[in-house]
Amino acid sequence: MTKTALDPAAPLVFDTAELRGAGTTMHVAREIPAPEAYGLEAVYAVPKGAVLDLDIHLTGVSEGVLATGQVEAVAEGECARCLAPVQDALSVQVQELYAYEGSVTEATTEADEIMRLEGDLLDLEPAVRDALVLAMPVTPLCRPDCPGLCAECGVPWDELPDDHVHETVDPRWAGLEKLRLADNDGESK
Ligand SMILES: [Zn+2]
Ligand SMILES: [Zn+2]
Repeated sequence: MTKTALDPAAPLVFDTAELRGAGTTMHVAREIPAPEAYGLEAVYAVPKGAVLDLDIHLTGVSEGVLATGQVEAVAEGECARCLAPVQDALSVQVQELYAYEGSVTEATTEADEIMRLEGDLLDLEPAVRDALVLAMPVTPLCRPDCPGLCAECGVPWDELPDDHVHETVDPRWAGLEKLRLADNDGESK
């Protein structure tokens, strides 16, 4: 019934046949190119092809395979305030249980609660992607106190002198000023 959709040659798909029988561990320490962009491309993402530095242990447990470890990758994007390019080194923890087909865990959980193995194939990509995306800032900034752009001229405050101001009179205040002058004229007569 279960049709294996996983590509055993994909860089984040692992054959865990040797982990059958609890207690055995496989160490995955390698750098692979990200199969797709994680995050919001052009806003803030680990770009497709960027290096994913994996340090993951796959351990056979009675119900399946436990994946634990760390992934490092560089996210790129632009500052939400000043639009300058931003680069962050992300380091995230991965901890995910993959249930064996036919295991009690598989039978008693929903597919979106606990990951499944397909035969002996384990797809680490969803866990890696979720961990990286969760670690991404809601508002990427070039630095925490980035002052952003001048609302009048759109130039980054970092490139403007401290005394930068725009001598513009709001048209609404200009109208009030006219009224005030007219009123004064009336009183003086
Ligand atoms: Zn900024
Ligand atoms: Zn300005």
